[in-house]
Amino acid sequence: MGYLCGMSKKVRVRFAPSPTGGLHLGGVRTVLYNYLFAKKHGGDFIVRIEDTDQSRYVPGAEEYIFDCLRWCGLEPDESVQHGGAFGPYRQSERKSLYRAYAEKLITQGDAYYAFDTPAELEAMRKQYKTDQNPSPQYDHTLRLRMRNSLTLSAEEVNQLLSSGTPHVIRIQMPGSGTIAFTDMIRGDVSFDMSTVDDKVLLKADGMPTYHLAVVVDDHLMQISHAFRGEEWLPSAPVHLRLWEKLFGRDAMPQWAHLPLILGPNGKLSKRDGAKYGFPVFAMNWTDPKSGETIEGFRERGFLPEAFINLLAMLGWNDGTEKELFSLEELVQAFSMERVHSAGAKFDYEKAKWFNHEWLRRKPLEEIIIALRSQFGSLDSLGSLGSLKWERIVALVRERCHLLTDFVEETRYFFEYPKSVDMASIQPKWSSEKAAFFSALLVRYDSLADWNAAALEECFKTLATEQSIKPGELMLPLRIMLVGGKFGPGVFDIADILGKVETIRRIELLTVQLSNN
Ligand code: GLU
Repeated sequence: MGYLCGMSKKVRVRFAPSPTGGLHLGGVRTVLYNYLFAKKHGGDFIVRIEDTDQSRYVPGAEEYIFDCLRWCGLEPDESVQHGGAFGPYRQSERKSLYRAYAEKLITQGDAYYAFDTPAELEAMRKQYKTDQNPSPQYDHTLRLRMRNSLTLSAEEVNQLLSSGTPHVIRIQMPGSGTIAFTDMIRGDVSFDMSTVDDKVLLKADGMPTYHLAVVVDDHLMQISHAFRGEEWLPSAPVHLRLWEKLFGRDAMPQWAHLPLILGPNGKLSKRDGAKYGFPVFAMNWTDPKSGETIEGFRERGFLPEAFINLLAMLGWNDGTEKELFSLEELVQAFSMERVHSAGAKFDYEKAKWFNHEWLRRKPLEEIIIALRSQFGSLDSLGSLGSLKWERIVALVRERCHLLTDFVEETRYFFEYPKSVDMASIQPKWSSEKAAFFSALLVRYDSLADWNAAALEECFKTLATEQSIKPGELMLPLRIMLVGGKFGPGVFDIADILGKVETIRRIELLTVQLSNN
């Protein structure tokens, strides 16, 4: 709890996605850890849309992100959709407030105007490129050779500004020294500032870059803890410097950089899904330009409880062997200090195991609701009335890893099996067995109470009377009813199929086998 000691600030965390496409499972895990931390400490979970890079803006991506969060049950306390006292929550709508901070830095000598054209920047990269330095940066070694307010006279700068010459504002990083912070997961981290370039803070279109906007907004939105993917660690020295120069290091949130999620070959990419056959996004995402759809966990048939649970365990555990946690249990158990700093490997088989476990634990009526939302209506699977659906789900859920598995696992309840594994019955078929099933048909037809126990009792009594081991008759019966050697208890199946259909299926196969 060290990072909460002496802290008077209310816990306020944020997820700050850029609306550039589908939400990768790493992104949802970032949301989850933010959410758990906020709820555990009675804090607020904020979603801020970071859309300052208009060239990367993708229509529909913002709504999609909120839909994903809703599906996962991770509702923000404040956001574009939820409102709140710290809005607007979309950075493009906050555009006008960033310039003043960039100019404050200029006044302090911590930033400068730069007027270099794209061609001049390109020329710089060519001119200073060497074998040792293949991609020269705009930094303390080169800034004095460029066209900026450090190299031009005050009159020239004023003249360029007043004539509306396109320009950016760059941070002026020190040419030496280190800058450090304590990460909640990684401990002390320090950076050599001489290797960091003078990042653009305000672009020519007046929009801030991520670097300026993230610091200003974390400050204005009173963010107490900022958790983000470790890919942002290299930007930390710039952000630390901005905090130092704009608001003071004491005002800075506690940071944690979350480990990468690894696929079969290093960092899990959205392409890995198609390559290895597992979903990578929370929900299906269709790119509006290419029309390409990348599959989501939801559509693959995952329950949100399982998805959340498996994401929580990708990089965290509670210190025991316990793996199954509900969202409420995660809120209680979660601590940022127990998040591992090493990358977490995503294992699709394990992901399916989580879903299987949740299918086993979840109340039947809730599974039916989940099946309905997966398939639109259960009529597309078959209509048997909701009472029967509960019994069907109870019978087959042990055999399902995904909601989509219910299609195959329940098909024989609604239609005559498409293929019947005759080869498994034929070799051992005999006139005794044929006689048994003929007699069974008569007994079943006159059975008053059609239920699994009565069906079994009747079956076994007849087998004993005819001196055939029931074990030898069960497989044929199963294949007659479902088409193969699978499925739950065969008398339970017959019970649900009902008298007419059970008799029809036994009769059909008995005739067929006897004709062969
Ligand atoms: N907008 C950044 C992103 O898309 C957010 C990084 C952060 O949380 O600071 O990942």
